[in-house]
Amino acid sequence: PIEPWFIGGPVIKGFGRGSKVLGIPTANLPAENFSDVVSEHTSGVYFGWAGLSTRGIYKMVMSIGWNPYFDNTEKTVEPWLLHDFGEDFYGEEVRLAIVGYIRPEANFPSLESLIERIHEDGRVAEKALDLPMYAKYKDSPYLRNPS
Ligand code: ADP
Ligand code: MG
Repeated sequence: PIEPWFIGGPVIKGFGRGSKVLGIPTANLPAENFSDVVSEHTSGVYFGWAGLSTRGIYKMVMSIGWNPYFDNTEKTVEPWLLHDFGEDFYGEEVRLAIVGYIRPEANFPSLESLIERIHEDGRVAEKALDLPMYAKYKDSPYLRNPS
């Protein structure tokens, strides 16, 4: 178990790789705003809750790290919200409660195996977030209170 942590900010443009290449959109946050808390946490795949100011609170799974498959040089924070929005929401405030850890960052031999693993991570997150020990954070005031 991890100590939950809370970060948020406006959804910014990334490289467009999430939805365009993988079929998995990830809402990028300006990681430089909380580089301290990000560097404190080991790279890998986490799950938790995401609050979008005008829409609601959703399950999410996210990678924190350098995305070895793409050889990034910056550590990124990019949650995949486990909900079909049918549209983009760039610029909206997103608030995250990060409550659990799934696995370390890994490299994958092919894009297909990476995509398969991310879908598996999504299924793990879906289930875990129904457990009372993780579900209770859905009510965190932070998720609903953009400032
Ligand atoms: P970028 O590289 O700009 O982050 P992506 O291909 O990763 O682009 O797509 C992410 C964008 O898609 C988000 O910024 C958001 O506006 C939109 N989006 C739509 N549905 C979702 C979702 N379920 N989870 C995350 N982002 C989503
Ligand atoms: Mg993205």
